[in-house]
Amino acid sequence: MRIIMLGAPGAGKGTQSTFFAERLNIPHISSGAIFRKHIQDQDEIGKEVKDIIERGELVPDRIVIEMIMERILQRDCQRGYILDGFPRTYQQATALKHALLEFGEEIDHAVYLHVPDENIKKRMPNRLVCPKCDTPYNIMSNPPLVPGVCDRCGAILQERSDDTEETVQKRLETFHSETEPIKDYYRRKGLIIEVDGTKDPDEVYKDIVKALVHHGNH
Ligand code: AMP
Repeated sequence: MRIIMLGAPGAGKGTQSTFFAERLNIPHISSGAIFRKHIQDQDEIGKEVKDIIERGELVPDRIVIEMIMERILQRDCQRGYILDGFPRTYQQATALKHALLEFGEEIDHAVYLHVPDENIKKRMPNRLVCPKCDTPYNIMSNPPLVPGVCDRCGAILQERSDDTEETVQKRLETFHSETEPIKDYYRRKGLIIEVDGTKDPDEVYKDIVKALVHHGNH
């Protein structure tokens, strides 16, 4: 099962990907999380992308594409994976398609989480992330069991440095101009599943499962 999660920043891609990865026992691959790890490690890629990410812009395609291609070739991806935050441009989508074709593989579903910009802007100030395992939380709609502590690994939760009001605005603009159009690309292929992402995370999850079952029967 190869699933792509599409949606605006803060739409819930990370949360839903976490649910699916656990349920299907396949890796959750978040391009943003991989970049955050490189930044923490202060390595070559980290240095190259830090300012770009903090400005709310997209990292150049060549860097992201190479990084994700390398990741999906690893052994643990043989049974499938959830791609969260990749592809974000048409060029990334076609690069993924061609890379998969070489192995006779395809994407099975592209899940699109609809959340209006106004809701996103309200959500962002409540967002926290685990600096160790990148699990996302929202103190209102998806709080950790112990305030400020990651349920999965016990690390102290943090705000993301690119979740400032100004950067969120820029990320939304980038989303609408670069990423939203690839929804049509997947729609034309009959792969898109559109879900209302404004509900509680558990409800959204159920809606996606229902839509996947329905989609799978066609
Ligand atoms: P995310 O955690 O998915 O919100 O990603 C955080 C940031 O990493 C984004 O705002 C981009 O700057 C960068 N990024 C993540 N994935 C991609 C991608 N597929 N293409 C370009 N930039 C990306």
